[in-house]
Parts: sequence; structure tokens; C-alpha cells
Amino acid sequence: MATKAVLFDLDNTLYDYDTPHKKSLKEVHKILTNYISISFSRFIKLFNLAKCEIHRELAGSASSHNRVLYFQRLIEKTHNTVEPSLILKLYKTYWDTLLKNINLRKGALGVLKQLKKKGIKIAIVSDLTTHIQLRKLEQLKISKYVDILVTSEEAGSEKPHAIMFLLALNKLNVSPHEAIMVGDNAIADVEGANFVGLYTVLLAKGKLAKRFKEDYRKSDSVIKNISETLDVLKKRNHFSA
Ligand SMILES: [Mg+2]
Repeated sequence: MATKAVLFDLDNTLYDYDTPHKKSLKEVHKILTNYISISFSRFIKLFNLAKCEIHRELAGSASSHNRVLYFQRLIEKTHNTVEPSLILKLYKTYWDTLLKNINLRKGALGVLKQLKKKGIKIAIVSDLTTHIQLRKLEQLKISKYVDILVTSEEAGSEKPHAIMFLLALNKLNVSPHEAIMVGDNAIADVEGANFVGLYTVLLAKGKLAKRFKEDYRKSDSVIKNISETLDVLKKRNHFSA
């Protein structure tokens, strides 16, 4: 069966999110110390608490990842009030730092170029707000390779909800058996895509790539580097790279 489209997760699949995220939190802490005395460990504790609360309250929605809500909740805890200019400054610092420090994973650009050359469509299917994901595509300079973007903000639900994958297939006008999904999260990416009948590829990097015993959480292929996506396609399509 010829593959007509590849759906990619973005964060921690096409680029490494964890390192720039840590850098961003360090910068945010620096800004915060201009206003209050707070240790980095205390700041991280409060940030994680704020994030947990927002996740619990907004589970399954794109807003559950909105950093402005995390920083608002954090400042309400540290200042016992809302400080709009400070919250907005922390939010801006976080994303400006993260975007400045993101880089495509080794081999990712080669994969995108090769797919484009073969006429295979490329989708990004990602759990976050569209504004931020568009900024990432711009910063990573990959928008010319990407045919469509689906975010959970746009779909109304997050992966592993089927709507994320179905919306991407619908926009591309391809059937599930004509597409594959590549992602680093065994639940969001693999379970979700398995459910709609996509061929699934797990990028086994980091904590989210945990393997599960349940069949519906098992991917059809496991890869260690994003460049191996081409090997998977070669096996599936018998095309030569
Ligand atoms: Mg991911």
C-alpha cells in the first residue's frame, strides 16, 4: 500500500523540547527575582503545582498547556493578586527563550525534504494552541514542507482523541490506510492513531516513549532516530530513498 501522507507530532518528535523548556524556566525565574526573592527550586515547585492545577481543571483541552494560565496561577500564589504586566512578561520571556533555542532533531530536515520529493504529504498533529505552534514552524523553518497543521485548539480535543487524526486525514483527503503517524508518545500518538487505523511509528526517545503491553498502545514500528522514518516507508512502500 502506497503511503500518501505522514503525520508527525511536533514537540519532542521533530525537535527536542525538554532542553529549551528548562532554559526558558531559568530565564523566567531570573525575571521573577527582579520582583520577589524566590529560589529556583521554590519557583519550580510552584510552577509545577500551577501546571498540575491547570491540567486538572482543563484536562483534554489545548488551554491546559497555555503557559499564560500557568504563570497567572503562579503569580496569584506568590503575590496573592493578579499582576498583569508581570504575568505577560513571564509568558513572553518563556516563549521568546524557547523559540530562540529550538532546533530540528538530527535528520528531521532530510526526512521532510525526502518526503516532499516523493510527493508524500506532511501534516503536523499537535496538542497545543495554534499561535504557538505556528511560531515554532516559522522558527524551525519547516513550513514550506508542511502541508497542513492540526492543533488541539482547532480540533477541540487532544490526542489520543480520534478527531485530531481524522481532521488531519480529512484536510489531506487521504484514508487512514494511506497514512502513517510518527510520534514520541505511546498514548497520545500511538494509541490515538492506532484507534483510527493508521500505521504507527513510535520514536523511542524520552519518558513518553514508554512501551505498553496492551495491543492498542503498541506501535507498528519503533525507531530510535527520526531519520529512520524513511526506512519504515521504504519497507512499507518499497520505494528507494
Ligand atoms: Mg511529543
